[in-house]
Amino acid sequence: MDLNDVTTKLLSEDSHEIYTGCWEVLRLHDRDALRLIAASVLPKKARIQMHDLGGALRSNSEVLEQAFRKLEISTGSKCLCTAYFGSTRYDPKKEADCGIVSIEHEKFEENTWSTHFDCLCLRCNRKFYVTGEEAGHVPYWTWQAKKRVVTSSTARQKKCPVLSGHF
Ligand SMILES: [Zn+2]
Repeated sequence: MDLNDVTTKLLSEDSHEIYTGCWEVLRLHDRDALRLIAASVLPKKARIQMHDLGGALRSNSEVLEQAFRKLEISTGSKCLCTAYFGSTRYDPKKEADCGIVSIEHEKFEENTWSTHFDCLCLRCNRKFYVTGEEAGHVPYWTWQAKKRVVTSSTARQKKCPVLSGHF
């Protein structure tokens, strides 16, 4: 993937090109590359948002917002898996194929016709519980953080203010 190419697509006046560029951002996992694109694209965010990206069953502008969000996350220090929250477009199997997450467990629920995944981000070790609805024409995935196991060091940190404040 040519980074200049992605940037050119996002800055294009052609809605289809912009949409294609958005998906390339969603599939990109290299933070340095994302930062380079972000530097050119984010200052022009308002102009890009003026394009109507269409979309039949779901608005394609949602993909644009997800692309902006991923670019914004890339400029900070949070793990890129933060982009999974609030998005329905990240297929855990595709993320796993790219070596970004590992699927620890997968179970199909016949009652709801949905698939549940236990995923682990291989960069920051965050654990996710993902529900995938793939029955319709438009598949979507909901990512939720699984509760972290409290380690002894974080437990100690939590106790400190209580000890100093009330004892
Ligand atoms: Zn992560």
